[in-house]
Amino acid sequence: MLGRPIEAVHFTPPEYAKPRPPALLFGAMHGDEPVAQLILERLADELVERPPGRDTWIVPCLNPDGIIAGTRNNANDVDLNRNFASSSWGTQRRPGYNPGAAAEDQPETQAIVELIERIGAHRLIAVHATYRMVNWDGKGEQLATEMAERCGYPVEHDMGYPCPGSFGTKYGVERDLEVITFESPYVMAEEAGWLECRTAFRWCVDLPA
Ligand SMILES: [Zn+2]
Repeated sequence: MLGRPIEAVHFTPPEYAKPRPPALLFGAMHGDEPVAQLILERLADELVERPPGRDTWIVPCLNPDGIIAGTRNNANDVDLNRNFASSSWGTQRRPGYNPGAAAEDQPETQAIVELIERIGAHRLIAVHATYRMVNWDGKGEQLATEMAERCGYPVEHDMGYPCPGSFGTKYGVERDLEVITFESPYVMAEEAGWLECRTAFRWCVDLPA
């Protein structure tokens, strides 16, 4: 909205990798969760050296205006995780959870929606902060369990509150894709937050299904 670019990085697997559906990981949908961006930048650094086992797209920061301002919402004061065109969009308004004037009217939402359609991603990982848990929707249960085993976080299916217009509702509940909402740790000294969940992230871009 303020003209800052949203950057995506694309990694391709080695030629000998068997075909697997593409993965898309994105972070900092909420601008007050900069650790999500840091973790995905670390993952991208690693994938330069060691390519993933599947086509992998990484968007470290979906909400650059929010990151600069330190706000959960974007520059239009919309919570992007309530702006997706699920059937439940806009049905509930709590203070601070502005869903936008219309479903998917925000440029950040449009950017990720268009990328998902263009690349045909079925494995969708939204990185948030900082509850240390792995939430899933749609077909994401097995992957959530596998990632959780590798970082020691609990698996959660129900966030405990309704999320109308959320990413997980649209792509997991309604489109039945493999959707993970990964809640990262706090920013910690000496990269500990990244190292804690590194194996889980390698797993989701490398291995099966
Ligand atoms: Zn969040």
